[in-house]
Amino acid sequence: MVLPYDDTYFMKKALQEAEYALEAGEVPVGAVIVVQDRIIARAHNLTEKLNDVTAHAEMQAITSAANFLGGKYLKDCTLYVTLEPCQMCAGALYWSQIGKIVYGAKDLQRGYGVMGTTLHPKTKITGGILKDDAARLLQEFFAKKRT
Ligand SMILES: [Zn+2]
Repeated sequence: MVLPYDDTYFMKKALQEAEYALEAGEVPVGAVIVVQDRIIARAHNLTEKLNDVTAHAEMQAITSAANFLGGKYLKDCTLYVTLEPCQMCAGALYWSQIGKIVYGAKDLQRGYGVMGTTLHPKTKITGGILKDDAARLLQEFFAKKRT
């Protein structure tokens, strides 16, 4: 059987990371970085655990992927992240020169789009992959927080 290594397949892996974040009481955002159909980095939001506002899933994943590759640029990599990156992460992704970004739900408050941040001109971007699953996890988190 040939596994369907498509955007949905890898986004499911990122959603799994978001679920780990939810279980740990973190804002549930997860990310994986892929090179040639191989996951080289997995991460989720750790801002509570590390007491660090910069500990977003994407930031962890960028560092982890660069360590794995032994080089700071991620030109041949694709980032899968469950929520549209914020402007900090978009900035970090700019510096990484990442090849492609695939995100799930759009962040209408703090996404890089609404914040007016630009990505690297060579970075391709796709949004909306499994967006309902990503949004459901976030809703679950914030509903729990309110009670
Ligand atoms: Zn971010």
